[in-house]
Amino acid sequence: MKAQKHPLSPPSIHKFGGAAMADGTAIRRAAEIFLAQTGPKVAVVSAMSGVTDALLEIGSRALLGSEEEIANIGSALRARHVAAAQILVASGARREQVLSSIESAFDELAAMAKGLAILRELTPRTSDVILSRGERLASILFAAALAELGTPSKVVDAALLIPTDGRHGNAFPDLAASDRAISQKLAPLLARGTTPVIPGFLGSAPDGRVVTLGRGGTDLTATVLGRALGASRIVLWKDVPGLLTADPRVVPEARVLPRLDLREAAELAYYGAKVLHPRALIPLSSIPNGANGDGARPRPPLFIRPFAEPSAAGTEITALAPSRHDRAHPVRALTAMRGQALLTVAGNGMMGVPGVAARTFTALQREGISVALITQASSEHSLGIGIPKGDADRARAALLEAFREEITRREVDGVEVRRDLATIAVVGLGMPGTLGMAAKVFAALAAAEINVVAIAQGSSELNLSVVVDEKRADEALRRIHSVFQLGKIGGGHPAPATRSDVVLLGFGSVGRELARLLGKVKPGDAGSNLRVVAVVDRSGYVFRPEGIDAKSLEKLASAKKKGKALASLAGGWPASPSDGNGAIAAIASHALARPLLADLTA
Ligand code: ADP
Ligand code: ASP
Ligand code: MG
Repeated sequence: MKAQKHPLSPPSIHKFGGAAMADGTAIRRAAEIFLAQTGPKVAVVSAMSGVTDALLEIGSRALLGSEEEIANIGSALRARHVAAAQILVASGARREQVLSSIESAFDELAAMAKGLAILRELTPRTSDVILSRGERLASILFAAALAELGTPSKVVDAALLIPTDGRHGNAFPDLAASDRAISQKLAPLLARGTTPVIPGFLGSAPDGRVVTLGRGGTDLTATVLGRALGASRIVLWKDVPGLLTADPRVVPEARVLPRLDLREAAELAYYGAKVLHPRALIPLSSIPNGANGDGARPRPPLFIRPFAEPSAAGTEITALAPSRHDRAHPVRALTAMRGQALLTVAGNGMMGVPGVAARTFTALQREGISVALITQASSEHSLGIGIPKGDADRARAALLEAFREEITRREVDGVEVRRDLATIAVVGLGMPGTLGMAAKVFAALAAAEINVVAIAQGSSELNLSVVVDEKRADEALRRIHSVFQLGKIGGGHPAPATRSDVVLLGFGSVGRELARLLGKVKPGDAGSNLRVVAVVDRSGYVFRPEGIDAKSLEKLASAKKKGKALASLAGGWPASPSDGNGAIAAIASHALARPLLADLTA
């Protein structure tokens, strides 16, 4: 495909999730963070937090005919949006306009819910229409916030931008058609200096009706937009400091990963890391890498950054050159897919049955069931398949049908189902080449008496999946996190870290001299286990988790000596000593190996 040409420099895409859109104050803050970003840009917003859940609740109450409860949920939602508008919009006419959009949206919703309560029927189509309100209202509020801050913006209906396969509730964009629609509709706006505000999570079915892209779908909207516009970067502003080595709610020791390969992140997303929509990275990973006949098509880097600390770098997700793969640290992160079931097809005669695995996959694919894992005993007596619990009955029926003849001939015994399981994915690019990974995982779980129901390579080589009882999943995550030392940067290796990461607080003449001396240390010398990872001055800091080499330290020192502030140098981040020492907080949120802080301030 031909890369779209834009007269302007490519825009950056900024996504604000539900947590960033909690109320009027939060939305104003999100708008300020957005406007502080340089260059042309596009905003993508989620519904205010909890709104999608509440709208789903309206749908399910309608099925029960509980009109009063529906009315209560509806009026609470209306009040939240009105309150946000009142905080965000001071001026008369604009406020009236926003309030009247909110009122008419909720009037329509009330009428629809009433109808559903009478019919007691909710189709996936209608459900999507109801859900689409959340993002549409949020984008009106966000655009109003921008207008109040003096920036002209325009809400653009996502249904016009993102044609999809039309699977209501879980649609996937037609990427080529979206590429065209998005650049056609947004490039002229950007060229005029108008900032597009796009409701996330939405697209259109081939018949033109609105569809939703699955829970968390605003992440996907952002990557689809970034791909189509050849964005300079895509930033997902979230309530976490970045992509962490595990879900911090489950594993308190989890640490920010400064950089992650696209494939590693895609694996984590697909295997249930809530921080990214499962298919959010497909629009980026499917961009042909580099030149493809008619010129290179840029693949925008993706960042996950904390809106609570907009100056922090967060996590960069990009296709890393093989030379930058961290081979020394095979495991990078963990995630768990809960609510799984394991189907087992077993039988003594299976050895002779051709293509069991292929036929199993085909049967399940026909049913639209996604397979998280497949495991086969080397004896070929049984085949295990991990799938979502809710699909288990359908899957079992499909397999019984697929192997009907074999079952009659007693070559296959039948299909067993085991429910309430979790699949834990251990992910890292360096795993395929490293021996003993599975043994390490087994040992960690055995020590906690957690039974391993199945183990397999996940959908790709960089994923080792273990199936455990769902009730033990949290503990399993903590055990595996600890055995691979993921709480330390450069963790992920079973051997203990011997290195110390040094942070130089102060980069005056003393700090620079110490940096110079550390840079000169040869392997084997005393102090050779010390590695400078950050230098801090009054303006901010330069932080490289992988270590700042001697040459770069020298460059930083000579720029600093000439009077340049660290925050102004390439790779520098602003932070002031007065805000509770932002630099140290940002650096400490990363996993450092045996950190040393050298206070060299005056
Ligand atoms: P958004 O507001 O953008 O929709 P989400 O709530 O979907 O953001 O994603 C952020 C949440 O994902 C965090 O609150 C965190 O608990 C959870 N999470 C799960 N796994 C991870 C991980 N590996 N790194 C960071 N956050 C994670
Ligand atoms: N509002 C939708 C959800 O809660 C989409 C999103 O937040 O990305 O799933
Ligand atoms: Mg989300």
